[in-house]
Amino acid sequence: MRLLLVEDEDAIAIPLADGLRREGFEVERVATAADALSAPEPDLVLLDLRLPDMDGYAVAREMRTRSRVPIIMVTARGEEVDRVVGLEIGADDYVVKPFGLRELIARINAVMRRVGDARDPAGPADDLAAGPLTMSLRTRRVTQGEDDLHLTPREFDILAMLMQDPGAVVSRDDILRRLWGTTWAVQTKAIDVHVSSLRRKLGDPAWVETVRGVGFRLAVPEA
Ligand code: CA
Repeated sequence: MRLLLVEDEDAIAIPLADGLRREGFEVERVATAADALSAPEPDLVLLDLRLPDMDGYAVAREMRTRSRVPIIMVTARGEEVDRVVGLEIGADDYVVKPFGLRELIARINAVMRRVGDARDPAGPADDLAAGPLTMSLRTRRVTQGEDDLHLTPREFDILAMLMQDPGAVVSRDDILRRLWGTTWAVQTKAIDVHVSSLRRKLGDPAWVETVRGVGFRLAVPEA
């Protein structure tokens, strides 16, 4: 598996790249946003948010315009507000410095498993539908009537969970476990960011009903 490590600080990047290589990853390390954006597409990007030539959000946004490559953002402690912004622009996960190699590898594996599951053509229900909404898990395409909906990877994954069983409640813990591989590391607030963005894109907030204290369910609004 090929990782692109975008990190300007040698003191972090060099031991991290060495550790990941020892674990069997192929690692290409770059120190600037410009080099990150001109590198060949890897299987996953580890993206530091503080780069000398451009901030990490701008890099992630630019990457998202051309691919769905999984992105794990690397933040410094205390950047809580920024985490939410990052999730909104389509980062797949976060690690907060300082982190251990084991933790990082667990996150990488969780993200790749999720991406792999979503792309797996042998899945039981390949195409989902609810009212005018259709979703292909294989191509990750979502349509509403005649229109294509352009969802971030997180929005897609949340909608997929809701569409698996329209009307059934999907709990916040299930979403955290499924999307982030944990119920601990990510603030539950991040889910609200994705859900509100999803509601905006669906054009009617009634599509995703909040079940207080539990989670969400899909409700096809009256036409
Ligand atoms: Ca940095």
